[in-house]
Amino acid sequence: MKKLINNETEIAAKVHNTLDNVSLNKNYSEATSPNVSQVTTKEIYPGIFMAPINLPRNPLRSINNYIVKGQSRDLMVDTAFNNQSCVKDINCHMDYCKTKATSLDIFFTHLHSDHTGLANYFADRGSDLYMGRYDANYVNNSLAADSPVWLSQLELALYQGLAADDLKLEEHPGFRYRPQKRMQVNYTAPGDVFKIGSYSFTVIDLPGHTPGLQALYEPEHQLLFCGDHILGDITPNITFWDFAVGDSLGTYFKSLELVETLPIRYLFSAHRSLVEDVSKRITELFVHHRKRLQEARDCLRRYGPSTVRRVTQNLHWDIRAKDWSDFPNSQKWFAAGEAMAHLEHLVALGDVVRHTADDGVYYYELI
Ligand SMILES: [Zn+2]
Ligand SMILES: [Zn+2]
Repeated sequence: MKKLINNETEIAAKVHNTLDNVSLNKNYSEATSPNVSQVTTKEIYPGIFMAPINLPRNPLRSINNYIVKGQSRDLMVDTAFNNQSCVKDINCHMDYCKTKATSLDIFFTHLHSDHTGLANYFADRGSDLYMGRYDANYVNNSLAADSPVWLSQLELALYQGLAADDLKLEEHPGFRYRPQKRMQVNYTAPGDVFKIGSYSFTVIDLPGHTPGLQALYEPEHQLLFCGDHILGDITPNITFWDFAVGDSLGTYFKSLELVETLPIRYLFSAHRSLVEDVSKRITELFVHHRKRLQEARDCLRRYGPSTVRRVTQNLHWDIRAKDWSDFPNSQKWFAAGEAMAHLEHLVALGDVVRHTADDGVYYYELI
C-alpha cells in the first residue's frame, strides 16, 4: 500500500493550462528581499519557487532551495547548512513564497549537511520532516564526534594511507555543519506520493551519491527533484562509504541509467544551474567517471600496488591547488573517498585487487 502524503484536493486548472508554454527561468516573477540582498527567489515553474541559499566558505557556493506552493501545506525540498546566514537567506525565500514553518512539509533528498543542516531548526518551528530511512538513520547516528560513523571515517582515512595528512574531523564540512540533535522524521519509501497543488510527486530511490538518496518525480509534468544525483555545472561527489554499502560508483551508474528511462522535461538539481538536457548530462557524467577509472588504472600501471592516497594524488581535480600539499584538508576527505569509490568499482569489475597490509592500509593492484 503506497503512502499518500498531503492529500490536497485543489486543482490548479489555470496553472495547468499554461504548462506547455513554460520555459525555465523565463517570464517568471523574480524578487530580491529588501533585507537580504543576495537572495533571489524565482518562480521556475508554475507554483515552484527556487532560491540559491549561500553556503559560506564552501566550494559548492550555494544550494538551490525549492518551495512548491499548495493550498493548506507547502513542500520544501532540502534545507541548507546549520548556520545563521543560511537561516537568514532561507527565511527571506520563505517570505517571498508567503509560507511559514508551520505550513511546511520538508523532504530531504539525502543525508549531507548542506541539505539536512536546518532540519531541527524547522522541526522546532512546527514543520513536518520526511526522509528515506537509510540516510535519516545515518544522520541520527553521526551526531557525536565519537559516534561509530565518525570514528570509522577517521579509521578509513588511515587505511586510505592519509596518516601523513593528519586530517581533523573538525575540518570535515559534513561534521562541522551536522545537525546538533536527533531529527524526528517520517520515513519515506519508493512509491510514496506527495500531493501538493496540482502536482503528485512520487518518491524514487536513486542511491549512489549517498546510499539512501531519494528523489521526487512528477510523472504528469515530467519534473524531477534529484538533490545531488545529477548536477549541471559540477560533478556530484561519489565516495566510498563502507564495505557494507560496497561499490557506490556501480550503484550510481545504475541510478543514472534509471533516470535515463524517465521522461523528464525539467530536472531541478540542488546546486548551481538547472539541467535542461538530462540525457546529455547523463552521458557527460558517464564519460567523466570512465575517464577517471582509466586515470586510476594508469596510476596503478605506473606505480604498481598503490594506496588510495597515491591514486588520489594522480587523479585530475578541478581545484585551485598547486599540488597535494596545497589541497585544503576539507577537500582531502572528499578526494580520497572519491578515488576509493573508483578503485572499488574496478575491484567489482574484476580489473583490480585490494590487499590489506599489516597496519590495515589498503593497496590496490591491477590484475
Ligand atoms: Zn550531497
Ligand atoms: Zn549538496
